[in-house]
Amino acid sequence: MPKQPPKKVLERRTRVEKHILPILKQTYPDAHCRLDFTNPLELLVATILSAQCTDDRVNFVTKTLFKKYRKAEDYARVKAEELEKEIQSTGFFRNKAKSLRGMGAAIAEEHRGKIPATMDELTALPGVGRKTANVVLGNAFHQNIGVVVDTHVTRVSNRLGLTDHAVDAVKIEQDLMQVVPQEDWTLWSHLLIHHGRAICQARKPKCEQCPLLVHCPAGPKFIAAEKKKARKK
Ligand code: SF4
Repeated sequence: MPKQPPKKVLERRTRVEKHILPILKQTYPDAHCRLDFTNPLELLVATILSAQCTDDRVNFVTKTLFKKYRKAEDYARVKAEELEKEIQSTGFFRNKAKSLRGMGAAIAEEHRGKIPATMDELTALPGVGRKTANVVLGNAFHQNIGVVVDTHVTRVSNRLGLTDHAVDAVKIEQDLMQVVPQEDWTLWSHLLIHHGRAICQARKPKCEQCPLLVHCPAGPKFIAAEKKKARKK
């Protein structure tokens, strides 16, 4: 007989499936990847550029970039200084240019110019970690292989009591993969990113307005702390 998951996991799974997911899906029916792309290469490039940068800034830069660089080998051929200048406003541009050029060369040489569609092949590319690979697999290839864990997913999943890990993205992902249904792994990140931006903000979450309040262990604590602060004033 297959081993029964621990009680804690079963409780989290029920809360996610019965309450949290349906509420989030209803609240953010249009949740989707905010990076602009028309093919897997473009999404891979945009995701590499999105490290420590806003989606809006990346979309602004890629609008021009994607017209000039259409194939992986285009990134392999360009001079470092030229590419650095073009992506400068996304920050960390030297490292990002190095990753893009290395990624372009590896895809051109080892994959005949086609973006590979497996976690192992993607993470073997220069500058591509598990998070980037999950973004590409989930949004360009429509494969739910893992869960994208960014700063919003980390914060909101912790507040909702769905992980035991505060910062380790790999462990948070493992916890979430146990409690979120696999067909919703990609959507889960979009939903939490939307919720993290709109309501469950880092400094001051709007718990009183939050549709998840009755299913969130952190919400009542935030509200009590706010009331205490207000009484002191
Ligand atoms: S109740 Fe508060 S802490 Fe919990 S998810 Fe909503 S905004 Fe975040």
